[in-house]
Amino acid sequence: MQVTVVGGGPAGLYASLLLKKEYPDWNVTVYERDPADNTYGWGVVFSDATLSNLKEADTVSHERITDAFVRWDPIDVHLKGESIRCGGHTFAGIMRADLLQLLQERSREVGVELIHGETIEEDDVDELAAEADLLIGADGLNSTVRETHEESFRPSVSDGSAKFAWFGTAKPYDVFTFIFRENEHGLWRVHAYPGRMSTFIVECTQETWEAAGLDEKGEEEALAYFEDLFSDHLEGYDLQSKLYGWRNFPVVSCGSWSSGDDIVLLGDAAHTAHFSIGSGTKLALEDAISLLDGFREHGTDVRSALNYYEKERRPRVEGLQDAAERSQTYFENVERYWDMEPEQFAYNMLTRSGRISYDSLKQRDVGYADDYDRWFEANATDADVTPLAARQPLNQSLTLRETTLDNRLTVTRPPSNGSTDGRPGADYLDDLRDRARDGPGLLLTDPVAVSPEGRITPGTPGLYDDSHVDAWAAFVDDVHAETDAAVGLQLVHAGRRGATRHREYGLDRPLPSGDRWELYAPSAKPYVPGGPKPTAVDADDCDRIRDDFAEAAERAAEAGFDYLQLHAGHGYLLSSFLSPLTNDREDEFGGSLEARMRYPLSVFDAVREAWPDERPLGTALQATDWNLSGLKTRESLQVAQALADRDCDLLSIVAGQATVRERPRYDPTVLADFTETYRNETGVPALSTNYVTTYDEVNTLVGAGRADLCTYRP
Ligand SMILES: Cc1cc2nc3c(=O)[nH]c(=O)nc-3n(C[C@H](O)[C@H](O)[C@H](O)COP(=O)(O)OP(=O)(O)OC[C@H]3O[C@@H](n4cnc5c(N)ncnc54)[C@H](O)[C@@H]3O)c2cc1C
Repeated sequence: MQVTVVGGGPAGLYASLLLKKEYPDWNVTVYERDPADNTYGWGVVFSDATLSNLKEADTVSHERITDAFVRWDPIDVHLKGESIRCGGHTFAGIMRADLLQLLQERSREVGVELIHGETIEEDDVDELAAEADLLIGADGLNSTVRETHEESFRPSVSDGSAKFAWFGTAKPYDVFTFIFRENEHGLWRVHAYPGRMSTFIVECTQETWEAAGLDEKGEEEALAYFEDLFSDHLEGYDLQSKLYGWRNFPVVSCGSWSSGDDIVLLGDAAHTAHFSIGSGTKLALEDAISLLDGFREHGTDVRSALNYYEKERRPRVEGLQDAAERSQTYFENVERYWDMEPEQFAYNMLTRSGRISYDSLKQRDVGYADDYDRWFEANATDADVTPLAARQPLNQSLTLRETTLDNRLTVTRPPSNGSTDGRPGADYLDDLRDRARDGPGLLLTDPVAVSPEGRITPGTPGLYDDSHVDAWAAFVDDVHAETDAAVGLQLVHAGRRGATRHREYGLDRPLPSGDRWELYAPSAKPYVPGGPKPTAVDADDCDRIRDDFAEAAERAAEAGFDYLQLHAGHGYLLSSFLSPLTNDREDEFGGSLEARMRYPLSVFDAVREAWPDERPLGTALQATDWNLSGLKTRESLQVAQALADRDCDLLSIVAGQATVRERPRYDPTVLADFTETYRNETGVPALSTNYVTTYDEVNTLVGAGRADLCTYRP
């Protein structure tokens, strides 16, 4: 077998040595464009120091690599003059140059032919492939092999929005050190970590980079700028750079990792993961192990070996890429969290990628985690005395206006059918009461209609007639008497999604024509193809519906509800005004975003007027229609800001269902991600609506300031 490898980085070298060691009669040749002793970059971190799979794959290189490791476990976060330490993270670092030297040495020992100073051009790739039984593209993120066979690999490369540069310094750092510093040009992030030389990566937004004039500064000037900015941390040591330059981190992923029967990509050529989770090198090495396993499994059947490799590796790599993307998004948007107190800022940073949770922080560093609980309790309750033992974030109270919720759990239920002519049925109310007995801080009803035509199905509960009040009032009294839960009501006008059959017959199935009621919407567009056409509301309809909302709010107050929420999502009437997909109007309520939000905001104002001042009013707001032509998150954030300006007390972020044509992102964390953006961009407390199923998730989201309340479904 002839194995030809393009690229002598970690992936190419490690794959070569493993294959040659396992199959001594194979010829393995590596082409590397750089000289043997020339490597860009500084230290690389392994966030998991165990590397047991490397030991199994090749004990000799494992021993040499781990001997060269510098190990540490704490992370320090420096900001606003404070320093916060959290231990128990087990990192190991090695200079990239040292790692490559070790791998080169070991590859030569087992008989790999290393050819340095040879750049493989696109024209060479097919020739090399024709001469080899296997061509490995391990040529990094700008892979020539990948470019040459683009149609097979189907790569996607998207550049991150932040700028970064990779520096080194002789200043000895002994722990992972994150520095966040604001100056007149913006907010800077530094990722510094130990090694023979310490690594010092500087990152910032494009705006900060430009404001600091880095687009025009040369290497010396830039180094001087950062030596001055971080002089207290560098303590007189210089910053050094190799191949000075600023980059935007490119996220690489490929539809396939192989081309034809005998060309395969490994490491950064196939996939990248943002440097802030310290995984790229480990992924590259593990790719090589998996490729070897493919050959162990399938002998010289190259095609099957490559299939094995991709099948085995892809889920693991994609899992890490997800975590890396979350971490990258965090670092790109640090400004969003800058108003947080240093304690919460650090906690939020530590839990950013989703791989470290409340419980795992307790295991890693119980002292830090307990201190944080105490800080959170003191902060959440304005307590003067810091208690010795603090309760978890989920058990902290939350006060919205004069309503205090005992804890951060919200229990709700999907739209129901248990009502007749809007009167809530006994079974339906019993079910809600049962949910209150589970002990949430807030029990929230499913959507309750503001008018008969605003119902979703004939069984939707309502609060559009004075005769409805008594049943609701008795229910609220019962819940108050039996539990400590606050009781919230969601008000809805279903708009064009109304007059559908009970949900057990399927979602959005129109009622038979004789049973339907007139539907109202911003524009006369049916929700489902062939479904009933709604009437486009005129000025009188708009006034009437606004009044319906306000009157329902008055009844909700009379019934004793503690919290009221308007539903402006999921394609119901208010969100239909926001979405350009469903609002074609040419009057003051259609067209620009400012016009499209005018009517929903006027309803919010009318309800605020009708609802007692001391009780909180929130909004379930659509974050995206999951449709390229629909409401965008950046637009929805402007709506959220307008609600914040009106002292909206709680945002509950929802997504999709604006139209039946949508491409949702199926990701368990997507709504939590939206929630944290809205909360931290607008400053309005937020309810995370993705159903969390463990207390650990609630503690993590609430503790980190990503949500104030979570919808909980054990
Ligand atoms: C700022 C920064 C910090 C990082 N920190 C970490 C970290 O802490 N931990 C971690 O695990 N990872 C880290 N990484 C990622 C890590 O460096 C990469 O994931 C890893 O090097 C990937 O290995 P590779 O062999 O696939 O690619 P590379 O290391 O890029 O190696 C590719 C090799 O191919 C050669 N080559 C390219 N084109 C050709 C050609 N046409 N002909 C011949 N040779 C060619 C290149 O010269 C290079 O030597 C960091 C990355 C950056 C940018």
